[in-house]
Amino acid sequence: MAQILNIDQAMEAALGLLRAGEVVAVPTETVYGLAGDATNGNAVAKIFEVKGRPRFNPLIAHVAGIAMAERIGVFDRLSRKLAEAFWPGPLTLVVPLAPDSGIHELAVAGLDTVALRMPQGFTAVLSGRLGHPLAAPSANSSGRISATTAPAVAADLGDRIPLIVDGGATQVGLESTIVKVEGERLRLLRPGGIAAELIEAAMGLPVRRDAGADVEAPGMLVSHYAPRAEVRLDAIEILPGEALLAFGPFRAARFEDAAIMLNLSPAGDIREAASNLFSYLQALDKEGVERIAVEPIPASGLGEAINDRLARAAAPRDTSGTAR
Ligand code: AMP
Ligand code: MG
Repeated sequence: MAQILNIDQAMEAALGLLRAGEVVAVPTETVYGLAGDATNGNAVAKIFEVKGRPRFNPLIAHVAGIAMAERIGVFDRLSRKLAEAFWPGPLTLVVPLAPDSGIHELAVAGLDTVALRMPQGFTAVLSGRLGHPLAAPSANSSGRISATTAPAVAADLGDRIPLIVDGGATQVGLESTIVKVEGERLRLLRPGGIAAELIEAAMGLPVRRDAGADVEAPGMLVSHYAPRAEVRLDAIEILPGEALLAFGPFRAARFEDAAIMLNLSPAGDIREAASNLFSYLQALDKEGVERIAVEPIPASGLGEAINDRLARAAAPRDTSGTAR
């Protein structure tokens, strides 16, 4: 059962757990977050596992301040102005991912953009002490409503996490507003704790509300993530010229014929496989092979999200790379 520690005695325990790659429930002004070190793939995989999420969506990276945010994302005039006006606070900014951001591919679900937020209080300080961003979706099982108190987190996730930091009831009780900065334009991806009108007033710019769901729409996801190569799932034998994305200790027949092979987890550890998924798909794709054969991957636990992602990569596409 999770230990519940009051906010003013939890810092060292939370830090120790995060450094060890654990996940910890933390208070923010919006809702409680399930936080892990966003630069540690194993920790990020644990977040998805604990929540029982059936697919890998990109997570918000919570930072200690603008300086840390600017090492992770590329900030231009507008995004800097937004951060200065609304941070710390319930505003998440989606900006291009910086080269050498250090953030793990699984935390951004393989995208070349990143969602960043500086929350108020404990969680920002925790990120600063750790020296890394914290990936933190809401601290609830997939499909349940977000938790706004520590006992609510305990009732839902208490048997799956080591620590809940109790900061009392959250002030806002709503998720953060997500805005994507596109050059000189702002787009609302999710309404939340800060009204779009407030952002418009502060920036003197309209916030576009169209096509808000771009990342969540499965069709669009395919075009973001799809490798250039064809992807063949559940391969039990390898055809000449294929690259092989392997899993576990047992090889598909004629694996020696593969142009190149990467193993998501030689030991068959599904969490390790999740953390390697995006970078290995990208690495194999870079080899320029026509097709990537993927060995069968168990469907339970994190395997569900891994298989979901692979099925999208294998979905038929037109030549523009957009999902049909
Ligand atoms: P959660 O952390 O579960 O409250 O949700 C995070 C939200 O941020 C989801 O709706 C994501 O789709 C969205 N999000 C995170 N990263 C990005 C990104 N790079 N581009 C667009 N939306 C994002
Ligand atoms: Mg949520």
